[in-house]
Amino acid sequence: MSDLEELYQEIVMEHNRSPRNFHRIEDSDYSADGFNPFCGDSIVLDLKMENNLITDIGFESSGCAISRASSSLMTDKVKGKSREDTNEIFDAFRRLMTRISKGTSDSDILGDLEVLEGVSEFPVRVKCATLPWHTLKAALEGNKTAVSTE
Ligand code: ZN
Repeated sequence: MSDLEELYQEIVMEHNRSPRNFHRIEDSDYSADGFNPFCGDSIVLDLKMENNLITDIGFESSGCAISRASSSLMTDKVKGKSREDTNEIFDAFRRLMTRISKGTSDSDILGDLEVLEGVSEFPVRVKCATLPWHTLKAALEGNKTAVSTE
């Protein structure tokens, strides 16, 4: 196993075991549900915004380790960020997952999220990793209907 694979395993397992921000927010400003029928992952995401910044974010999910770890890493990453920054991270993450040409500053933008790069080798798993991101986007757009990866 390479160092990156080892790090990937470690981080995914650790975030799956003790996910960050794993709770509902009762007085949330935005929320959305997401579902990935290919794996059976489901997520509900709540967030609070103040002055265009995500001041709090929480999720609950059921499903595989990758979807939960990705949700945990995502919430850690976007907490305190503006909508614009969040969109920038979303785009960089999508480039990482779809293996299309990376932006020159993608590594800086992604930070820890880059360990999920190995997921891009498995198209079915990519849907697990991107589910929380699509759900976040729907929440920020005020779209209350459930998101599906289909
Ligand atoms: Zn999954």
